[in-house]
Formats: sequence, structure tokens, C-alpha cells
Amino acid sequence: MSAQIIDGKAVSARVRAEVAERVRGLVARGVTPGLTVLLAGEDPASATYVRNKEKAALECGIRGATLRFPADVSAATLAAELDRLNADPEVDGILVQLPLPPGISAEDSRALQRRIAPEKDVDGFLPFNQGLLMIGEPGFVPCTPAGCMRLLAEAGVSPRGKHAVVVGRSNIVGKPMAMLLLAADATVTIAHSRTPDLAAVVRTADIVVAAVGRPGLVRGDWLKPGAVVLDVGINRLPDGKLGGDVAFAEAVSVASAITPVPGGVGPMTIACLLENVCRAAERRLPPA
Ligand code: NDP
Repeated sequence: MSAQIIDGKAVSARVRAEVAERVRGLVARGVTPGLTVLLAGEDPASATYVRNKEKAALECGIRGATLRFPADVSAATLAAELDRLNADPEVDGILVQLPLPPGISAEDSRALQRRIAPEKDVDGFLPFNQGLLMIGEPGFVPCTPAGCMRLLAEAGVSPRGKHAVVVGRSNIVGKPMAMLLLAADATVTIAHSRTPDLAAVVRTADIVVAAVGRPGLVRGDWLKPGAVVLDVGINRLPDGKLGGDVAFAEAVSVASAITPVPGGVGPMTIACLLENVCRAAERRLPPA
């Protein structure tokens, strides 16, 4: 058996086309969605991420803007900028690109992220939005887990009644992923670095989500035959290529469906971010 390869690039292109359509509708009613990213310092990886977000936004008709600050910017300056953006009715979504420069303490960095108005928190990282997800009320859902749910839907996989094992418990991937699967009626286990006999836990899963950051951690013989595998990991391998948290070559002959790395979950994150911006902007529409 060889698994269905879930094509994240194709699904992401579909999501972006849907967003572009929604944006056209918004613009026709006088609302141009706006996304603003705060980028401080010279970190090359951050600069690339921000460029990609801005480009993807512009391609969908969203007004993407990046505000750049030098590495020695103060937390107070960024805070004032966030206050200004929170008050700007034309800015629907705000992102603070991490990591902030080393001159900004971890505490200040956290405070700055939490300064974003909850209705503009299109990353869905604020405790307020994470709390809404936890209690099952609508809010902004973190983009990578949201993308995983869309991939499941596109692959025709319903989580209802399935046992899902999420490996990884970060606030931006593992935990919100588990909440989304729970909301979709899966029975959910969250595993992490202190889980004894991880292989045995993964073997009980109908759906496996690997969000760890350890290349090839999940082996083919850890999988129940027919399991659906979503590989969130993005790891730079010694040969310079990108690889996931799942040993793909082994898993592909055991799973019924699997996301590749690259080209699986990765492309979904920005697409779901654009969806969130669109949703934020739709709140600006006058009542029909
Ligand atoms: P974190 O480092 O924040 O979390 C990693 C999680 O994996 C932790 O909960 C940790 O457990 C767990 N873990 C670490 N080692 C093991 C192990 N040996 N066995 C079991 N669990 C382990 O990472 P993120 O959640 O931010 O990201 C995870 C991966 O996803 C990374 O590769 C990242 O690059 C990728 N990623 C991809 C995105 C995309 O767009 N596709 C977006 C975001 C992330 P513990 O809590 O006990 O330390």
C-alpha cells in the first residue's frame, strides 16, 4: 500500500484563491483588508518570512505592509507603534515577527505580543483567542493547526470518533491542534518529550500530528496501518534539504494518507493567516 500524498501546495493555492475572491467582495463594499507586520532587527530568516507574508497578502489583494525597526529599537517605541496600529481602522491584522532583537527582554517581548488588540490578533496567539478556542467559541485560530484541519478535510478525513495523537505541546501548534481535533469530535492524546514509550502511544493513533522539530522522529513501524499522518516539522537536514518529523519513506507505505515536507503543512500556514485577515476585515462591513 502507498499512502495518498496530501498536497499542501495545491490546497494552499485553493485557500488563497478563496481569500482573493472574498477580498474582491470586500473591496467592492469599500473595505480593503490590511495586514501590518512589525519587524525589528536584521535576522535574515525573519526578513524572509515577513517578505513571504507581505507578498502573499498583496497577491490576494490584501494591503500588506511591513514596518521595519533597527535592532536597537526600544520596547517603548514598539509598544507605541502597536497602540497606533490597534487604533487604525484600516489595519485588520497585526503581527509581531519573532524573535525580537536581543535588546528586548523575554518579558517585554511577551508584553508586546499581548499588546495586539484581540480582534487584530490574526496569528491567534493571544491568551484571549487561545481561550476562545479552548471553550469552543469563535476567535482567531493559530494558522498552522487551522491549516492541518483544512488538509484533513480536503483529504476526506473526518476526525469524528477517531483517536488522534498530537506529538508536541507548544502553544502555537501542539495545544491548539489538540483543541481543534477535540472540537471535531476526535479522542485526543497529546504526547511530548516526557511521554514514555512514544512509539506505543503513536501506534494507537488513527490520526498522527507530528509537531516536534526532530527530523524523522516518527518511524514507519510506529504507525498503525492506515493511519493518517500530518507532519508539521520543518527541519534543516545535514544535506541542506528540508525534512519533517516523520520518516517519510518508511511511513508512506504504512499510512493511508500523509503530508510531505516540504509541500504539505508548510504552505498552509500563510494561506490560513490570509484567511484570518479576511475574517478580521469582514467585521468592518456595515450590517447587511
Ligand atoms: P516547540 O519546540 O515549541 O515544541 C516542540 C514540542 O515537541 C514540545 O512540546 C516538546 O516537548 C516536543 N518534543 C521535543 N522532543 C521530543 C521527543 N523526542 N519526543 C516527543 N516530543 C518531543 O516547536 P513548535 O511547536 O513551534 O514547532 C514544531 C515543529 O513544527 C518545528 O519543526 C517547527 O519548525 C515546525 N513548525 C512548522 C510550521 C509550519 O508552518 N509548517 C509552523 C510552526 C512550526 P516538551 O514540551 O516536553 O519540551
